[in-house]
Amino acid sequence: MIEIQQLTKSYNRKVALDQVSITIPTGKIVGLLGPNGAGKTTLIRIINQIITPDSGHIRFFGDLLKPKHLNEVGYLPEERGLYRTMTVEAHALFLGQLKGMNKQEVRVQLDYWMNKFDILSWKTKRIEELSKGMAQKVQFIFTVLHEPKLLILDEPLSGFDPINVEIIKKELLALKEKGTTIILSTHNMKSVEEICDFAYLIAEGKVVASGTVAELQEAKKEGVYAIKFSGNMIAFVNALWTNYELIDKEIIGDNRFITYVKMRGEAGFEELLTALIGQVKLEAAWEVLPSMHDVFVQTIQERKEATNA
Ligand code: ATP
Repeated sequence: MIEIQQLTKSYNRKVALDQVSITIPTGKIVGLLGPNGAGKTTLIRIINQIITPDSGHIRFFGDLLKPKHLNEVGYLPEERGLYRTMTVEAHALFLGQLKGMNKQEVRVQLDYWMNKFDILSWKTKRIEELSKGMAQKVQFIFTVLHEPKLLILDEPLSGFDPINVEIIKKELLALKEKGTTIILSTHNMKSVEEICDFAYLIAEGKVVASGTVAELQEAKKEGVYAIKFSGNMIAFVNALWTNYELIDKEIIGDNRFITYVKMRGEAGFEELLTALIGQVKLEAAWEVLPSMHDVFVQTIQERKEATNA
């Protein structure tokens, strides 16, 4: 695993990272989330050894992180930059060799990936001949060409059309299955829900929440249940009495509804069902968890309120 321990970094007097500790288990996808200016890029740059921390250290699969480990890291920065006049193949050879591959290895890997994405014919094209999305796909391939143990991706899905977003997500999950450890820095909360095993939420240089996506959602849930039923809405509302609050409803057919009910006080889910049985015909009921978007917004808001108090 990658262990980031007590990392601190300031620019002049501005603290960008403050005692940040993060554990990234081998073969998992870890989301790095946080508002603009939270310190995510600073952390990523330290892992990539572009900048050094003021204090703290990183263990890379047991060893203290050193320059030699860079050959085992693949980094897709948010600011994409490729040499425009190079062909795709020449560019791959250039970057692959920087990562310690020989030409033959680069060619084999490049063919494998370009074949997989069905873009083999782009190999001889110059970068400037590619659309923005095409260039991004190519840069993604360049990032994984040397089969890095650790893959760091900064907003890898932005700029892709929905079909390509699905393709990249599928490939990330396939890389994870093969044992690649992935750090995904993103503002796209839907992708966090879909592919991250764990997430760390950073704000003002500090870790403010962490856990599996389910744990983070569980921590911010508000006792809301969805109830799907057929029958009379008035009978439903009367059955709720004062223990539950009806917060929303959708009509899904003739006398068929999905309602959203919030618990009040000590009332529990079982009591809710007991109150409803016999009053309406229940079809389904499930707990409504907050989205990662809501988890993010709520956590940051609570932190702001606590700091201002
Ligand atoms: P975003 O989501 O906007 O990309 P981020 O989480 O990646 O933000 P960082 O780029 O790590 O945030 O910035 C963290 C803090 O450090 C910010 O307050 C930023 O102004 C400051 N900072 C970053 N780079 C420098 C620099 N080279 N010189 C001075 N301050 C910097």
